[in-house]
Amino acid sequence: MNDSAIQPMHRLFIGGAWLATSQTLPVIDPSSGATVAAIARGGAAEIDAAVRAGLAARAGAWGALDATDRGRLMMRLAELIRRDTDILARIESEDVGKPVGQARADAIVLARYFEYYGGAADKVHGETIPFQKNYTVLTVYEPIGVTGHIIPWNYPMQMMGRSVAPALAMGNAVVLKPAEDTSLSALHLAWLAEEAGFPPGSFNVVTGLGEEAGAALAAHPGIGHVSFTGSPEVGALVQAAAGRNSIPVTLELGGKSPQIVFADAPIDEAAATITRGISQNSGQTCSAGSRVLIEERIYDSFVANLAARFRTLRVGAADQELDCGPVVNAAQKQRIGRYLDLARRDGLPILAEGSLAGNAPPGGFYVKPTLIGDVPADHPLAQEEIFGPVLVAIRVKDEAEALRVANATPYGLVAGVWTADIARGLRLAHGISVGQVFVNNYGAAGGVELPFGGTKRSGHGREKGFEALYGFATLKTIAIKHAS
Ligand code: NAD
Repeated sequence: MNDSAIQPMHRLFIGGAWLATSQTLPVIDPSSGATVAAIARGGAAEIDAAVRAGLAARAGAWGALDATDRGRLMMRLAELIRRDTDILARIESEDVGKPVGQARADAIVLARYFEYYGGAADKVHGETIPFQKNYTVLTVYEPIGVTGHIIPWNYPMQMMGRSVAPALAMGNAVVLKPAEDTSLSALHLAWLAEEAGFPPGSFNVVTGLGEEAGAALAAHPGIGHVSFTGSPEVGALVQAAAGRNSIPVTLELGGKSPQIVFADAPIDEAAATITRGISQNSGQTCSAGSRVLIEERIYDSFVANLAARFRTLRVGAADQELDCGPVVNAAQKQRIGRYLDLARRDGLPILAEGSLAGNAPPGGFYVKPTLIGDVPADHPLAQEEIFGPVLVAIRVKDEAEALRVANATPYGLVAGVWTADIARGLRLAHGISVGQVFVNNYGAAGGVELPFGGTKRSGHGREKGFEALYGFATLKTIAIKHAS
């Protein structure tokens, strides 16, 4: 990488300045396995500096801005993101390994978050409360202070937009810790925030390892809220660290989301959407519909339909624009491989696989999309998050069994229901314990406007939509006594 627009990549953005660290971390291109750049390895000292910069910004220029002016700055940043869509797409594609077209779509979603929350910045109203006649009581939403944001590597641009934009809209100063594998787009966003004119310290980015920079951010006493997106294991550590400071956390964790298909479903549309949902981003999507629950009487024909689609899927380097790029790193490839080995060991039928492009560089982290049939609902492949392009098919007798199996994992993030019977769709929508249910679609095209989050081990708190703004604010009640 030698693009002048991504020069700040070796540095941290703290208090409006670009700072170097003595140690760096390699940036590896998942398509080839080659080291292509380096990022700064920030730790506890840099996190402390960033939190202090955030506190100073809150007490200074950032805290002094009206909500409307904050919103204008965010809109300006959205324009710059749109201007740099191609640069951001190229950075993200090389960093994450996702096809450039998918990375471009992510850049547009990043802009949408700043547009949506920029527009919302001056629209979060409090209330007045009827009380005794000699009182006027009102509520106001205030910024929390400095908020910490720890994000994963699968959709860096979408995740940081989703988490950081509502926090800024509410007037918080933010400290963003991107994933060590995929930090470049966060650095470019900081570069654009500087150009947009965000006051120093309002937006800080500290790159580094999770157990160093991430842990220091979660535990910092100057932080008022932590928004964490990532694995349940690390989420529990973050919650424990935040608990020691008695501050709230938003946890957006993993999923094992069911796609339920009944005989009266729009079959081809369901099969196409389900295939896309698990192959997109090489299955590294928290809300991927990774279990398909199929009504018994169409099981054989539906898995045949899916299998035909899986055989057409092609995997290769991110710049080839195929269905799937590589997965993010060698460890992720090994993890998925262990689940595929387990399927073979337990005699589960591998119904179809995609193919690897002949010109895929040999050092890349490639995994073929795989469809596995007749998986028992309690098998680890049907219970655990694989986070790869692996779809498991499960037979269900009827609606009652579908509901029981849908709810029988530790996760509760998203569900899809495919049926022409809208009453059945609604019964299941109410019955399944998840944060989002889609009937006869899946994902509603990303829906920046739609609140998102989990139940059970998928986490708590909501991001996206207007709802997210309340998570990044503190409510104050003011009671004024006067002559009646
Ligand atoms: P991860 O938990 O390993 O890492 C996530 C982030 O936490 C990274 O920035 C990492 O550096 C940091 N981190 C690691 N150790 C830490 C520590 N001890 N203290 C503080 N921070 C630490 O997750 P991952 O492997 O990057 O991402 C995959 C997981 O994220 C999957 O489980 C996936 O389902 C989940 N995810 C969830 C959502 C959602 O919205 N629910 C979205 C995307 C990904």
